[in-house]
Amino acid sequence: MTSTTTHTPLTTELRDAALAALERLGATTPVVEPAPGVEPSSVDEETLSVVSPLSGQPLLRLRRDGAAETAAAVGQAAEAFTTWRSVPAPVRGQVIKRLGELLTEHKADLAELVTIEAGKITSEALGEVQEMIDICDFAVGLSRQVGGRTMPSERPGHRLMETWHPMGVVGVISAFNFPVAVWSWNTAVALVCGDTVVWKPSEKTLLSAVGASALLDRALAEAGFPAGVSQLLLGDREAGEALVADPRVALVSATGSERMGQQVAPVVAARGGRYLLELGGNNAAVVAPSADLDLAVRGAVFAAAGTAGQRCTSLRRLIVHESIVDDVVARLAKVYTGLPVGDPRTEGTLVGPLVDAGARRSMLASIDEAVAAGGELVVGGTAVTVAGAEDAAYVQPAIVRMPVQADVVKRETFAPILYVLTYSELPEAIAVHNDVPQGLSSAIFTLDVREAETFLSEVGSDCGIVNVNIGTSGAEIGGAFGGEKSTGGGRESGSDAWKQYMRRATNTVNYSTELPLAQGVNFG
Ligand code: NAD
Repeated sequence: MTSTTTHTPLTTELRDAALAALERLGATTPVVEPAPGVEPSSVDEETLSVVSPLSGQPLLRLRRDGAAETAAAVGQAAEAFTTWRSVPAPVRGQVIKRLGELLTEHKADLAELVTIEAGKITSEALGEVQEMIDICDFAVGLSRQVGGRTMPSERPGHRLMETWHPMGVVGVISAFNFPVAVWSWNTAVALVCGDTVVWKPSEKTLLSAVGASALLDRALAEAGFPAGVSQLLLGDREAGEALVADPRVALVSATGSERMGQQVAPVVAARGGRYLLELGGNNAAVVAPSADLDLAVRGAVFAAAGTAGQRCTSLRRLIVHESIVDDVVARLAKVYTGLPVGDPRTEGTLVGPLVDAGARRSMLASIDEAVAAGGELVVGGTAVTVAGAEDAAYVQPAIVRMPVQADVVKRETFAPILYVLTYSELPEAIAVHNDVPQGLSSAIFTLDVREAETFLSEVGSDCGIVNVNIGTSGAEIGGAFGGEKSTGGGRESGSDAWKQYMRRATNTVNYSTELPLAQGVNFG
């Protein structure tokens, strides 16, 4: 089915800007047919439509990779692994160093694609590319550090140690809202660890993926390494499913919704593969009576309304002490009323569009459900029309006061809705905080060291990220990133997350002339 709509001058401008950015990035764009105005529903067997949330209209069509192309890409990555695994890790690190240099050189080009496809304001899109540069730095250092421990053996003349080896092919599946950074977290680390990578980006952000991959392809080619080390699939769910099911993929690192993770995990487990899941969050911050309220309000607004509420770490619940809740809500409402919503490329805009009309429908439906459950819509929650972009899905971020944590509050709605809940004692706040299926990011605003330490302790937040006096979003690459419960349990990026990309071997070496058995066993 193919239907057409009148494409706006903005759509033409965006398509031209995207193609120019790709050219500067040195990417060969697999454009099948520039087709502004073709409805996304007309995606057919052979092509995928690239839609910009800035105009809400399709820009062009790309080739669509399916199961056969996935199998071929995995085959090439498996073949490349046979040589890549034996390249010394510091030499592999030099390829990532070069990738970091190319990203620095082309920061604005790649950020422009991120803005056009994911709708991020320019500053946040540049921040996403900076995060890629940062992980490259980290991975270069790692390339001289990955290694194991030596433990004392209970047997004389024996050495007990562990060695770490590459796993093989890593399949990376990424979500639309971090179209390039999540790939780089995985790929920079996986590559220095000696793995090869097949990337299945979100079908909503294919051009950003083409641009980022082109830089890595260049870094690999300059160093004389085969292109098979890094493979890109331009596919939708079908390609993702094929990647997940392929027994040659040693590790599936998948970022996306809880629904996606629940589908991926059993398939990988059934074939004995390893998976690393980074799924949805339902992040909360507690605001205690002692909090620095200026700081708390600023932190909450960035975390809840930034990226139009489309971060996995976006703040979705604010649990405020009853003595200050009216003041906090009034301050928030004042800021929210003046939040500049509009074209994310315009200086001064703080809130860009939602990714598509479906996301806006889901936001408005969640607000209705919250109000039906007794909530009070304080501000926002309305569609915003931006001149020249009538098909785009802009919204005014919303604040909803809730008397109780209703079901809708326990779900992740991937949009800027901030639910405000009230508490009287800290244990109650922590109980409400933890009473959701997800466990990604959390924060407490307090100047009371007892409250802060309690929140950080084993009786505090049950999340993978627990902050004090900063919001829930905006993590640095140095720490391990990920969450518990239905968020999936994976850890990526910094700290010792590299261990997920390698297999550990425990080695016992006997350099004595005897053969003593462990635990004193005597076998004749
Ligand atoms: P999504 O689940 O719709 O899609 C994510 C990716 O999974 C896409 O590439 C998609 O093609 C692929 N996919 C979908 N179903 C699949 C299947 N059955 N098998 C294999 N692949 C499949 O998510 P989205 O809408 O792109 O992104 C938003 C979601 O991602 C939110 O829930 C957000 O919280 C989450 N997210 C989590 C993190 C994190 O680190 N925890 C980071 C970014 C986004």
